[in-house]
Amino acid sequence: MGTDNRGHMEVEPAANEGWTTPRSGVDIVIVGAGITGIYQLYLALESGFSAVLLEAGDGVGGTWYWNRYPEARFDSESYTYAYIFSKELFCEWEWQDHFASQPEIERYMNSVVDKFDLRRHIRLAAKVTSAVYDEESASWAVRVNDGSELTGRFVISATGVLSVPYFPDVPGREGFKGVSVHTGLWPNEPVDFAGKRVAVIGTGSSGVQLIPAIADEVASLTIYQRSANWCTPLNNRPITPEEQAQLKSGFDELRGTLLRSRSGFLHLPCDRATFDDSKEERLAFYEELWNRPGFAKFSSNYTDMLTNAAANAEWCGFIAHKIRGIVKDPDVAERLIPKDHGYGGKRPPYVTGYYETYNKPNVTLVDLKATPITRVTEVGIETTEGLREFDVIVWATGFDFGTGALLRMDLSGRDGRKLRDHWADGPRTFLGLMCHGFPNFFFPGGPHGSAGNNPRYSGDQSDFIDDALVYMRAHGYRIVEVPAALEKEWTDMVNTEAEKQGFGHQSYFFGLNIPGKPRRFLINPAGRPTLLQIMSKIVERDYEGFLA
Ligand SMILES: Cc1cc2nc3c(=O)[nH]c(=O)nc-3n(C[C@H](O)[C@H](O)[C@H](O)COP(=O)(O)OP(=O)(O)OC[C@H]3O[C@@H](n4cnc5c(N)ncnc54)[C@H](O)[C@@H]3O)c2cc1C
Repeated sequence: MGTDNRGHMEVEPAANEGWTTPRSGVDIVIVGAGITGIYQLYLALESGFSAVLLEAGDGVGGTWYWNRYPEARFDSESYTYAYIFSKELFCEWEWQDHFASQPEIERYMNSVVDKFDLRRHIRLAAKVTSAVYDEESASWAVRVNDGSELTGRFVISATGVLSVPYFPDVPGREGFKGVSVHTGLWPNEPVDFAGKRVAVIGTGSSGVQLIPAIADEVASLTIYQRSANWCTPLNNRPITPEEQAQLKSGFDELRGTLLRSRSGFLHLPCDRATFDDSKEERLAFYEELWNRPGFAKFSSNYTDMLTNAAANAEWCGFIAHKIRGIVKDPDVAERLIPKDHGYGGKRPPYVTGYYETYNKPNVTLVDLKATPITRVTEVGIETTEGLREFDVIVWATGFDFGTGALLRMDLSGRDGRKLRDHWADGPRTFLGLMCHGFPNFFFPGGPHGSAGNNPRYSGDQSDFIDDALVYMRAHGYRIVEVPAALEKEWTDMVNTEAEKQGFGHQSYFFGLNIPGKPRRFLINPAGRPTLLQIMSKIVERDYEGFLA
């Protein structure tokens, strides 16, 4: 017996009574062909399981298949988001930019699928509509929107946290006669913006990427802002040949740093609190952060930036000063400075030329708090201020975060219990991975698990799942299920810790963008190390309490 490429013990498969592949199905049904599902499929096949991956879209890539709007782009560094399970793959793929754009990411995902010969196990245009657990056979009957059904001993739902686009309930939306698109459901054919009167509704992470990208080609651009965000520069640039060489030669070190990191980034935490520094030192540090790439503004900021209101206000004051310096019209600048939340109260976007866009003569900002939308007409958008006519409306209005995709599949666990009932008051999970009453069912990359750079923690979860299934096969177990007490412990931890820390309180991380959604924290406030620690204890104890 040796160790596998993740450093885990390899267990030889044993022929035994407990493990049988369902006659008309596979060992594992994976749902979702994003970065999580594709990795899960790779692991399943490597471990010798039969598996099929069902994907609603017509292509692979998940987020990077659906969000093909202009300037859709990583704000995780490309090489930290990419797979790190294979050094060969890592060294083969040369990312063009430190923060790659959607077309390159989609190409990458397709190349991974082909390199590891995964495509023949993937069914596209196959949206799972329901999955029902059968106690007797300890397996799941999975129904697809084309009417087909298949059986899997296990269902692994890698359906993503930002995969269900959300449209606000605006009267008349569907009656608009021009082009109407959601950033998260972007058509395969490019949208023609040239010389058009364009409205963008929403200034979250997607809207603020798209806005500067189209401003020059449109006749007019009207931006409908419900609440301003604390945007800071992405500071993207091409990866130089020297950097490409360093990335390859430094792979082992990079991988080690990522695996140890709390949030799955390379950005190192700061060793000082805000008021440890003098005012001058603070300003110099903020200036340095402003010029650093992506999430460094968040992950490498002062240790108390999120937890001390005065510290947070200092950093926000610095950004507000920057905005006033960039945007020439003082009234517009004030409207672009958030007044309803501090930095981290919502997911901070990273931008390229966003504030500068408002200096262009063809760009108008409409403040929806002052003049809300009353309806969409056949020709445009009406607010309390009047009607503006458009050729194109872009809905950059976000997603039903965290639970959206899982709750849209009609999932029935033991005794017909519905997931939507189990989660009526918000998700109840163990490690954001499984829940009680839903045996042989996992959801890596789902709610309660995330803690930063997505693929790093969802990859940890996928590793854990695959190891558990290998162990079950070797030891003849049929059922894996988390005990109720552990689900309660993790869920209580998430809800309690979420209130204490200063992140996401005003945002979709608490479900606040969807009317009627329970106000519950949807990510993991304990970070990756806690997740990993608990998972390795379960493995050490041979999954005690989980298997039958
Ligand atoms: C524009 C944008 C930029 C982002 N940038 C970053 C970033 O830089 N860094 C970062 O860490 N995260 C980023 N995210 C978050 C991003 O969602 C995750 O990083 C990533 O998508 C996680 O991959 P996943 O495989 O878990 O989910 P996804 O990529 O969302 O894939 C889920 C897949 O499941 C499919 N699916 C859902 N329901 C069903 C069903 N019932 N039947 C069949 N298929 C189904 C969907 O069609 C989708 O293809 C970004 C998100 C967006 C929207």
